[in-house]
Amino acid sequence: MDHQLNAPTIDVKAFAKAQTFLSGHTPLAQFERISQDCVGEVTGDVVWSIQGSTQTSASGSDAAWLHLEATAHVPLTCQRCLGSVSLALRLNQDFRFVADEATALAQDEESQEDVLVLSRDFDVLALVEDELLMALPIVPMHEACTHERALTSEDEGDDFSDEKPHPFAALASLKIKKA
Ligand SMILES: [Zn+2]
Repeated sequence: MDHQLNAPTIDVKAFAKAQTFLSGHTPLAQFERISQDCVGEVTGDVVWSIQGSTQTSASGSDAAWLHLEATAHVPLTCQRCLGSVSLALRLNQDFRFVADEATALAQDEESQEDVLVLSRDFDVLALVEDELLMALPIVPMHEACTHERALTSEDEGDDFSDEKPHPFAALASLKIKKA
């Protein structure tokens, strides 16, 4: 299959009706909004796929659905140690499409799936990027920072070396992880 397009757009209704599957590897650097938040060199691919389907709603009408899956590793600044942290993101999400914006807004609140507006030239990568951005944590951090560059060291006087990791702090975080 040829999926070399840089910015695939789909006719959502036709895509769903034909139960089309589309997948790709797109360089993370190509997602400009995410790249703005990244630190260091932005490498690696976002691996994504979408599956279209048609499902009959309670009212008996057919609705177009997309199922999106994606994985990415996004290099961000750890807000605890200020080192670089590569965050693994995984998307697994359903979207239902409706005819217009008003319906989408009205139904999105009360629906488990996300509700979007039908389009004939729906930008798949923009959707992937939107969802990745929403999946980013507000405060990115390592699960356990390897170098404790204590942010409070300035408050503690100058007797302590700023750069040395505090051995007991490291032990404490190990204990927490095992408990
Ligand atoms: Zn950290």
